[in-house]
Amino acid sequence: MKLSIYLSVLFTTTILFGQNTYLHCGKLIDTKEGKVLTNKTIVVSGKKIFSVENGFVEPKSPEDQVIDLKDKTVMPGLTDMHVHMEMETSPDKYLEGFILNDVDFAFRSLHYAEVTLMAGFTTVRDLGGSGINVSLRNAINQGLVVGPRIFTAEKSLATTGGHADPTNGVNNELMGDPGPKEGVVNSVEDAKKAVRQRYKNGADLIKITATGGVLSVAKSGQNPQFTVEEIKTICETAKDYGFHVAAHAHGDEGMQRAILGGVKTIEHGTLMSEETMELMKKYDTYLVPTITAGKTVADNAKIEGYYPDIVVPKALGIGPKIQDTFGKAYKKGVGIAFGTDAGVFFHGENGREFAYMVEAGMPAMKAIQSATITPAIILNMKNETGQINKGFFADIIATDEDPTQDISAMEKVVFVMKEGKIYKQ
Ligand SMILES: [Zn+2]
Repeated sequence: MKLSIYLSVLFTTTILFGQNTYLHCGKLIDTKEGKVLTNKTIVVSGKKIFSVENGFVEPKSPEDQVIDLKDKTVMPGLTDMHVHMEMETSPDKYLEGFILNDVDFAFRSLHYAEVTLMAGFTTVRDLGGSGINVSLRNAINQGLVVGPRIFTAEKSLATTGGHADPTNGVNNELMGDPGPKEGVVNSVEDAKKAVRQRYKNGADLIKITATGGVLSVAKSGQNPQFTVEEIKTICETAKDYGFHVAAHAHGDEGMQRAILGGVKTIEHGTLMSEETMELMKKYDTYLVPTITAGKTVADNAKIEGYYPDIVVPKALGIGPKIQDTFGKAYKKGVGIAFGTDAGVFFHGENGREFAYMVEAGMPAMKAIQSATITPAIILNMKNETGQINKGFFADIIATDEDPTQDISAMEKVVFVMKEGKIYKQ
């Protein structure tokens, strides 16, 4: 008994060992309280934050390092809840699947991961690729390549001909008949198999395409594509593995089925009715807006030949509506988690989303919280990321200007630390 008390005192009063970093912060955003603090020192030891002190504290050991951020605004590393690390928009995108190899996509993903981290995003949720995203996550975790912490859905789940059916739009010979192993589900039984296969393949969560989508080679961008029973089974099976479920949805009916089925986040939410907004609140479902992607597809659709003909009307019809729906949902009290759909536009430009959120009526501090404390809750990381506090991961970024005064500052991150290591200064 006495020994355990002695040990716990020893641990809580431990003095710093080894080389530590002292960050002198002119301004520091407290995401938990929603306040901008001034003149603070963050002491980083190893991968974690050791303490946050008042004023500019000088280190005790000559080995320690001081980083001067006295004229910067410092905040926790950001999380983008909707990215695709394996792809990036290009007029050749539909051809690339036939002329490139997996290893080409893998090398590209290294570059996308690096620019994402340099933009201040220390954590991302990858909502669907081929499985390269799992290997990328592992290589980053092993410290072999530079990138954000990744939570990946591996391959998205769809129904036959649905938004994430991997053989949409190809000729009969190439089309085949993909099933649950490939992420294509057409029954409750398939739903179980598809989720368990993702677990086997190394996913961290499940993504479903609850309605049609803009960029798939298919006619509808909004029809419901799963039954409630299938979605319920996916969510229940996912729970067995500690996974949450994210649902891509533009149309209202498919969105309602996804919420009733038990998904945690609705991606895009474009044609969400007021009734569905109430349902989101009742079921504690978060909206991940992806306004930047909506604006980008609408712009690209005006460029002749950028997208296949079947995609153009969907991009023009759905893309521009996302920002407006987000504004309405926010004002109605729907929980918002920051997400952009990066890959549909250029990786590294994720920070653009903040200005669009503020333009639609969300205060700057709330937008920053939606990219820090809120994702941490959804990703089961609420005691590890999203805040600058003792014991949290030293994921720390800084901007020249104070984003609570001018939100466009979020597009120019000048300092990036992830797990105590400085990547940009
Ligand atoms: Zn997406």
